Amino acid sequence: MKINDNLRLLSGGNVVCNHCDHQLGTSVGNPLAYAIRRERPSQDAGPGVRAPASHFTDRPIGLRQVFCPGCYVLLATEIAPTDEPSYRHWELRSQAEA
Ligand SMILES: [Zn+2]
Repeated sequence: MKINDNLRLLSGGNVVCNHCDHQLGTSVGNPLAYAIRRERPSQDAGPGVRAPASHFTDRPIGLRQVFCPGCYVLLATEIAPTDEPSYRHWELRSQAEA
């Protein structure tokens, strides 16, 4: 089952990369368990994020990116306080569980 342009769920519950078939997770509860994670300053997101986060908040803000370890395609991106866990967590449920 296609999850999105980058991820596919196999019948056994494994989540794999759509581009290279590398296994990214073994359950729908943590589909990106084996992905590569990188955290950098928020300004590294590109020209749309120019001002330092310190102009707006006292908290450290970072750019978090998640990549496939097989082909290095970018799977997810977020800009969030570095002292907080990722807010881009998701999981799949069947309609019977919902
Ligand atoms: Zn891949």
